[in-house]
Amino acid sequence: MPLEVLEEAASELTGWHGKGISVLEMSHRSADFQKIYEECTALLRELYAIPHTHEVMFLQGGGHLQFAMVPLNLAQSGIGNYAVNGVWSRKAFKEAEKISSAAECACAEFRAPAQRDIRLSENASYLYYCSNETVNGIQYPYIPEATVPLVADISSDFLSKPLPIERFGLLFAGAQKNFGPAGLTVAIARKDLLGHEAPRTPTMLSYETYAKSDSMYNTPPTFAIYLSLLVARWIKKEGGVSEMQRRSELKSSLLYDVIDASGGFYTNKVEKSSRSKMNVVFNLTDAALEPLMIEEAKKEDIVSIKGHRILGGMRASLYNAVSIEDAQALSDFMKEFARTHG
Ligand SMILES: *Cc1c(COP(=O)(O)O)cnc(C)c1O
Repeated sequence: MPLEVLEEAASELTGWHGKGISVLEMSHRSADFQKIYEECTALLRELYAIPHTHEVMFLQGGGHLQFAMVPLNLAQSGIGNYAVNGVWSRKAFKEAEKISSAAECACAEFRAPAQRDIRLSENASYLYYCSNETVNGIQYPYIPEATVPLVADISSDFLSKPLPIERFGLLFAGAQKNFGPAGLTVAIARKDLLGHEAPRTPTMLSYETYAKSDSMYNTPPTFAIYLSLLVARWIKKEGGVSEMQRRSELKSSLLYDVIDASGGFYTNKVEKSSRSKMNVVFNLTDAALEPLMIEEAKKEDIVSIKGHRILGGMRASLYNAVSIEDAQALSDFMKEFARTHG
């Protein structure tokens, strides 16, 4: 999260706006918290230019609960179709298979599937894809076209670039990657898709429950919503999602350029057009050097560059709060490490 957001939150932790009450202590039904909630949804609407055909909802349970809620709410009329190209889209597909009928309508490794490779089944109820495969470092360079509602897991590239929201049936993101703290999940859904959940769907697993209650059917994650509001204000002040896009293109190219110019010292297997601008995944050809690289990076205050436990290797996540200077420092460090150990 941006340092200035954390500092602001710290400064009003014990008393919000001089009121002698912390956001941590406010009732979610209080007028003060209502203000926080309303500004947060309004800012999200503004940042993404979300049309009034779409509902903005705050949920809990992370991306994983969305893997279940999507088929519970949207698959009633047919088969959930999944484009699978990495860890998260595969997990979502597996979960959907447990809940209703689901089909893998495209499959790719080290790239986003091309539009022509996405073959919907006859009775498709939606097309699901993951816009940025966080673990694999793969990002869709385009938005798929579909004759059925488009559903996207945008957990790891949330608010990192403009999106034509009107083209989507449903979008969701766990806040903790690129928005706020853990504990909040944002879903944006076309209103006419709500209210068609499977019979016996638990109340809290129906999107309609959230849509009808301003996400306050029960106690929402109030402090997470407040912190996310501060981040949304920060994004707006910095220039909005198109500025976030400009920065992430610059930050990621600083790293990919070093990888590509390293003469094979560093490798990245992802097809160039599908390389993620959020999560730069790479390997050292001499994998034995990876622990040393992590150690030496730590001395430069560069942390969390170890790859996901499933894939190993290295991964640099360039979320919105990572500055261009931070990415430049990592890029310089990688260059120097390759020079001294190559
Ligand atoms: C992290 C992540 C998830 C899972 O998120 P949780 O909130 O931990 O359940 C799902 N999808 C993507 C793309 C992710 O990066």
